[in-house]
Formats: sequence, C-alpha cells, structure tokens
Amino acid sequence: MKTNEIFGIKGPEKECTDQKCPFHGNINVKKKSFVGTVVQAKMHNSAVIEWTRKVPIPKYERYTKKKTRITVHNPECIHAKEGDIVKVFATRPLSKTVHHVIVENQGKEKHYEERKEALEEGRTRSERTEKKKETEEEVEETESKESESKVKEE
Ligand SMILES: [Zn+2]
Repeated sequence: MKTNEIFGIKGPEKECTDQKCPFHGNINVKKKSFVGTVVQAKMHNSAVIEWTRKVPIPKYERYTKKKTRITVHNPECIHAKEGDIVKVFATRPLSKTVHHVIVENQGKEKHYEERKEALEEGRTRSERTEKKKETEEEVEETESKESESKVKEE
C-alpha cells in the first residue's frame, strides 16, 4: 500500500523500503491517534514516546499528572529523534510491544533538554544519598573491628 496522505497528514518526501512504514510499507492505520514526545530512540526502527494525562482525584476535586509511555514503530523515512513531538496512530501489532506507528514529526519539543537535565539531576542526587548511606555503614563496621582487636590485646 503506497500512499502520500493518511487522514490529511502528508507523508515525508523521502521514500523508504521499510515494510512497516504507513506510507511506503504494507500496514494500515486505525483512526486512533496520540501525540507524545520521544524519550528514547536508540532501538532500530523503534522509539519510546511519552505524554502526560490528567487523572482526577475525587477526594480533593483536583487533578494529578500521570505519564503514559508506549513503544512505537519509527519508520525509516520519518526517523524521529529524542525530544521530537510525534503523532502516532494505532495499527495492527507489529511486535510484542509495538501497536502504534509514527506518522508525523511535529518538530522538537521546546525546553526538552532542560527538562531532561532536571530529571537526570534528580536521579543522580538520589544515587548520591544512597552511596552516602553505604559509606556510613562501612565506617560502623571498621569501628566494631577495632573494638574487637582491643579486647584481644587485653
Ligand atoms: Zn516510509
């Protein structure tokens, strides 16, 4: 199935030989779409995208933010990179975890790098505190050994 348009979205100018490409391959898409940010694009022809959704908390009559992450097919001709905002459509299962395909790359998310750095900084900070705890435990062990040796000397 070769097509230039999917639900009004024009395909990329570049053609590809990817069989799982919605424009140049042989898969059909369902009219069910999501827009998310690519958070990981290291896998071959696959990417992980993420978007936030609002979840109501009835008790407080407010909303909380939750993240949804899915693995999607990243066609050769679109080749979305980390930080790109992409539109995905549901399709038949392409592998165990992939049921969606990227159809449109809407460009880089503003402030994505800053957001990522902030997240990583938080992660390293928690790692540091864990390491600190470990060293504290080691100190305690050496102290107990010293007291033992003192007992032997006596
Ligand atoms: Zn293609």
